[in-house]
Amino acid sequence: MSTAVLEAATVPLLINGKWTRPDADSFGDVFNPSTGDVIAKVPMCGAKEVDAAVEAGSRAFVTWSTTPVTKRAAVMFKFRQLIEQHFDELCRICTRENGKTPEESKGDVKRGMEVGEFCCGLPHILKGESLPQIADEIDAFTTREPIGVCAGITPFNFPAMVPLWMYPMAITCGNTFVLKPSEKVPLTAVRMGELLMEAGLPEGVFNIVHGGREVVDALCTHPKVASLSFVGSTRVAQHVYELGCKHGKRVQSAGGAKNVLLVMPDAEPDSTLRAILGSAFGNAGQRCMAGSVLMGVGRNADELRDRVVDGLSKLKVDDTLANPKADMGPVIDGVARDRIVKTIKRVPGEGAQIVADGTSLARDRGFFVGPTLVDHVRPEMGVFTEEIFGPVLTMLRPRTLDEAIAWMNTVQYGNGASIFTASGSTARQFVREIQAGMCGVNVGVPAPIALFSFSGWNQSFFGDLHVQGVEGMMFYTRQKCVLSRWDKNYVRQHGW
Ligand code: NAD
Repeated sequence: MSTAVLEAATVPLLINGKWTRPDADSFGDVFNPSTGDVIAKVPMCGAKEVDAAVEAGSRAFVTWSTTPVTKRAAVMFKFRQLIEQHFDELCRICTRENGKTPEESKGDVKRGMEVGEFCCGLPHILKGESLPQIADEIDAFTTREPIGVCAGITPFNFPAMVPLWMYPMAITCGNTFVLKPSEKVPLTAVRMGELLMEAGLPEGVFNIVHGGREVVDALCTHPKVASLSFVGSTRVAQHVYELGCKHGKRVQSAGGAKNVLLVMPDAEPDSTLRAILGSAFGNAGQRCMAGSVLMGVGRNADELRDRVVDGLSKLKVDDTLANPKADMGPVIDGVARDRIVKTIKRVPGEGAQIVADGTSLARDRGFFVGPTLVDHVRPEMGVFTEEIFGPVLTMLRPRTLDEAIAWMNTVQYGNGASIFTASGSTARQFVREIQAGMCGVNVGVPAPIALFSFSGWNQSFFGDLHVQGVEGMMFYTRQKCVLSRWDKNYVRQHGW
């Protein structure tokens, strides 16, 4: 066992306002993906810890749900201020456990913080509707009420942002929350939890339990959990959706993706290239909104391919902690690296051509795969239909826009899709016909800001109401409709 393992700290749980280190039967490794060193040990908890966290949330709900909404929002103001104060520290933790570059960590924390900002103004959209005098002496109004203990299960690729999609909204709406962060990146979530407690959140309103499937299944089936918010791969998203629904919970469950970057011959070359490189290789391709399919429509495909190969060859791939100027870091762990390498090696057998090969990146430490471009991919190939979730861009050559849209619409996912063109009518046709919930026009990563919902379609999302924006608020509340009759004759009869 290396010294790093022996020194690695055990990641604590947060239950009822107390940080505890359980005697779990097993522990997972948290790596610094840039070096491969183990930096912490995460307890793989089970139903017992889930029950303690949910019970704490259930008790806290009684008071928190009736705490004035302005006071709940005031905690978010303070939380936002603390995140800003600890911004550099949070970014460093994020880079250390995820491997993304310092700039990418800044984006991760900042985009998450925007949800906290949105929640500072949440009282405004929590207002119901009213219609006086719907019949003689009868008024109608609606309120939005919190639903109870909400649970969130999150992936490794955005250690700050994805959990922040969920709990600030749930908590400001008056719910309590149990977070199960990815066991691969629990440290950012824990530091955020400390700041949230420091912001003045009462005990039990926010809880953290670590682990894997056992914890997830215990949350999906616990009778006192009212809702489940999941973000991760499609396989697990579907599992959580089905199990949660079967146990009577409302579920929003976001899955994997395969997003197209469609380049028309009239696209502006330089800004398009920058957008392609940022979208495909940012975060080492581990983004659910990463452009992983490049479609060069028509006659300019060779030129487009050459420009992309030239651009990616200039990306500096390196240890993101030791070299903050690295353009791209490692992938999350050895399992991911080996899976991605295996997928690339399969390409020639499928009939496509590797024109930039990231498997040749020689490194004796860390989990690195270099930027890879695969050309002459056909729509029936696995490298096109399956999510790779790494720095691998697959290029197809449709003859027309119609063909490009038709090919893309055969893919099971429906998260993001971008077109690059100088033509308004071409862009309009693409946006209207492509089967994806988030579209970009001359934008590489069309991920909406917190004011809008993050609206994946098809196998990229199971459920009705997405995270963020008004849909997020609706997911974490339920409507009460009140009809009230105040008859003025009653007052007269009783002689007031
Ligand atoms: P993952 O599905 O492996 O893990 C996500 C969460 O589910 C983790 O907390 C993990 O502990 C848990 N989990 C894993 N296996 C489980 C199982 N068998 N049963 C129950 N729970 C299980 O995903 P990941 O590798 O952490 O993240 C990458 C995936 O997330 C990619 O597919 C990516 O596209 C997707 N993602 C989607 C969005 C979106 O908004 N659609 C955003 C970010 C990431």
